[in-house]
Amino acid sequence: MRSDTTNRADKANDARRLDEQDDLAQWRREFGLPESRNGRDPVYLCGNSLGLMPLAAADAVKAELDDWSRLGVRGHFEARQPWMRYHHRARPLLAALTGSQDNEVVAMNSLTVNLHLLMVSFYRPRKDRCKIIIERDVFPSDRFAVESQMRWHGVDPGEHLIEWLPADGEASLSIEDLEMLLQEHNNSVAMLLLPGVQYYSGQLLDMERLGHLARRHGITLGIDLAHAIGNTPLQLHDWGIDFAVWCSYKYLNGGPGAVGGAFVHERHLSANLPRLLGWWGNNESTRLLMQPEYDRAPGVDAWQLSNQPIFSLAPVIASLEIFSAAGIGKLREKSVRLTRYLERRLAEQFGEQVSIITPCDPNERGCQLSLMITDLPVSGREIFDRLDELNVIVDWREPDVIRVAPAPLYNSFLDVHEFVGRLEHAAGVRA
Ligand SMILES: *Cc1c(COP(=O)(O)O)cnc(C)c1O
Repeated sequence: MRSDTTNRADKANDARRLDEQDDLAQWRREFGLPESRNGRDPVYLCGNSLGLMPLAAADAVKAELDDWSRLGVRGHFEARQPWMRYHHRARPLLAALTGSQDNEVVAMNSLTVNLHLLMVSFYRPRKDRCKIIIERDVFPSDRFAVESQMRWHGVDPGEHLIEWLPADGEASLSIEDLEMLLQEHNNSVAMLLLPGVQYYSGQLLDMERLGHLARRHGITLGIDLAHAIGNTPLQLHDWGIDFAVWCSYKYLNGGPGAVGGAFVHERHLSANLPRLLGWWGNNESTRLLMQPEYDRAPGVDAWQLSNQPIFSLAPVIASLEIFSAAGIGKLREKSVRLTRYLERRLAEQFGEQVSIITPCDPNERGCQLSLMITDLPVSGREIFDRLDELNVIVDWREPDVIRVAPAPLYNSFLDVHEFVGRLEHAAGVRA
C-alpha cells in the first residue's frame, strides 16, 4: 500500500497540472493576497464576502487623488476622467456583466439603499394587492428593507409578508413550491423579492423561469444579485426581470463598502414612476442651470440622488475592467470546474463526515459550497476557528455553515488542494 504522504504528493501534482492548463491562472498575480500568518501562506476562499484587491485599484484611486490635488474643483470637468461623468465609465462594463442595455444599469449607492430606492418605485401596494413574497432564509438586510417599506405604506408585514421556504429537511428552494404559493395567494401578491444566488446555501435560482412566472402572474420581480454578480453569467434584460440591485465588494472585488448598482428593465424607463429625487437624477445638460423644475435624466440614471463618491467608484471600475478582459463566460467555465474539484476532493477525503447543502448540479449553484460538519469529533464552529489559525480564510454563517468560495479570477486548484489538507488538520483527522 502506498503511504498517505505519497498519495498527497500525487494530489498536489494533479492540482498543479490543472493550474498549468488554466489559461486564467495569470490573473492571480493581479491581486493582493493576504499576508502569511503563523508561518503559513493564506488560503483565501472568501470572495463571497469580500473579494481581494485588484492591484489596479490602488493606481485608479491614486490617479483620482492626484487629480484632486492638482486640479481642485476643476477636476469635475478637467480630471483625466472628469468626475461629472465618471459613473458613465461603469455603465458598459456593468451592462456586459449583467446582460443589460446601457440605459438599464447604473453604479450608485450601496445595495440596501438601492433596494429602498427601487421599492419606492416598484412596491405600490393596493388594498387587494399588497403582499410581498421573500424566501424564509433571506439575508436580514433585505428582510428589514421589505418590512420597513410595508410599514411605511401602512401594510402589516405580520399578515402580508409571505415566506417561500424549502421543503422539509431540504436546504434548496423549489420553484414548484413558489408556484403553489402564488396560486394560494392568487391575485394579492404585489411583489417578489428574491436572490440570484442564496447567500447561505449557495443555491443559484433559475432567474429566467422566475421572470416568466412573475410576468404570467402580473407580479413585479426584484432580484438581489449580491452573490450572483461576477459569479454567474446574467441576462437580466432577456429574462424580463423588473429591477435588480447589487453590491460590488463580493465577487466584483470593488473594495469594502464599494459603490453598488441597480438595474431597471427598459419597459419601465419611460413611465413616470414615483421616485425619490435628487439633483444627480436630473438631466446632465440642465443639471447645473439650477432650475426649480426637475428634468428627468434618461434611463435608470433618474434614480441617482447625489454626486458620485469617486474614490469608491474608481476601484469598482478598475475591477470591472478585469472582468471585461477575462470574460464572464470563461470565468464561469473555470468556476464550474474549480467548484466541482472542491466537491470531489471533499467527498474523497471526508465522505459523509462533511455534508454539502449547496445543490450538486452546477446549473443550480455558483462557486460557493456551504459545508455542514455532520460527523466529525470536532464541531463546525471549532473547525472554523482552527482553520482561521491555519490561515484559511473562509466564513462562518450561523447557525452551522462554513462557506467556501473558490473565485475563478484569483483562486487556483492548488488553493483547493491546500484547503482540503488544512481542513483535515482542523478536523483532527490528520496529524
Ligand atoms: C451582502 C449582502 C447585502 C449587503 O448589503 P449592503 O447594503 O451592501 O451593506 C445585502 N443583501 C444580501 C443578500 C447580501 O448578500
